[in-house]
Amino acid sequence: MFSALDEQGSLRILYRIPRSEVEHLKKSGPFYCPSCKEVVRIRSGNRYATHFAHWPSSSCSYKGETYQHQRGKLLIYEWLIQQGLSPELEYYLPDIQQRPDVLVKWKKYVFAIEFQCSVISASEVKRRSRQYRTAGIIPLWFISEDKVKGTYPKISFSAFLRSFLYRFGDQLHFYSFSPHSNSLSIFTIRQSLSSRKLLTKKCSRSLFQFKLPELFETRRIGISMDSWVQSVYYYRTTPHRMGSAKHRQFYQFLYLNHIAPFLLPSICFLPLRYQPLYDTPAVIWQSRVLVTYVTGVEIGGEISCPPIHVSDVLGNEEMDLIEYYFKELVYLGFIEEREGSWYKRKEIPFPKNIEQALRQDKELMIQLKRRDKSS
Ligand SMILES: [Zn+2]
Repeated sequence: MFSALDEQGSLRILYRIPRSEVEHLKKSGPFYCPSCKEVVRIRSGNRYATHFAHWPSSSCSYKGETYQHQRGKLLIYEWLIQQGLSPELEYYLPDIQQRPDVLVKWKKYVFAIEFQCSVISASEVKRRSRQYRTAGIIPLWFISEDKVKGTYPKISFSAFLRSFLYRFGDQLHFYSFSPHSNSLSIFTIRQSLSSRKLLTKKCSRSLFQFKLPELFETRRIGISMDSWVQSVYYYRTTPHRMGSAKHRQFYQFLYLNHIAPFLLPSICFLPLRYQPLYDTPAVIWQSRVLVTYVTGVEIGGEISCPPIHVSDVLGNEEMDLIEYYFKELVYLGFIEEREGSWYKRKEIPFPKNIEQALRQDKELMIQLKRRDKSS
């Protein structure tokens, strides 16, 4: 870390301290960790920027911060200075007991920038994001590039990654950063291909070629219907592994309703933009919604289904997946919307065999493609 308290309790920042002053500074100690209040020492070397370090016996969460994390922090700090802003390195926020890597004010907004180099639990990311938000601060997470796995444009998806998703316009985004190559990537999510795979498009440049507000521009990108039909084909023709408890319960649910998993209607797989924010795969919740709340309703009858709320890192806009799903069903002619209520218009066609199912998928794909073209 780059900051510590001196004997008077003032914060000392080791940013760009000339080599010649380090020895002098070392003698002016002791210095204390702002977080755990233990004595820390000053370390400098050829490979490292001069920094404060805990002693080996310490159990402070700031101990053992990696070189990569330190370098990343400094680059982000310098990047903001270059834009004429006044960032603070490791600024301690006592009200919420957080010390973001870099805190910066831009117009009327305050951003806490966190460069996340290690895998932490999704609930921890959510907790910290929530804390920042309650303090009126916008959390801005950059994930270390090596934590983004998979072969671009398909990347591996996990609860960890889900906790870093931002919604701008009607697209989901996340950021990755590599201090090694100094490049920032803005990933825009096209769609989820399965619960573990996303189709993305990224915009990568040197960090210093971005201006802060550019990070929040909407990058519109359509859903790939060809990838969608391929992933449904895969689902229908590949033997199902039982996998998680969620999947087991789902197969049991289908079994009790006399439905074969590979003969689900195409509209149980609808690609929705905000699906990646939800931890239940599309096929599971869409099938459940249709079978539980729609198929039993007679034509013209009202459909009432509880909402499925999801939210992004900014958390301020709760989105209801059911609403987006039903809007698609309205477009496809299965239900209609009148004065804020949903009514059934058409029976849901369950395919009788795999040929019928695949034909249904193709037809749906054509319908959705046509709509995307005309919009
Ligand atoms: Zn400490």
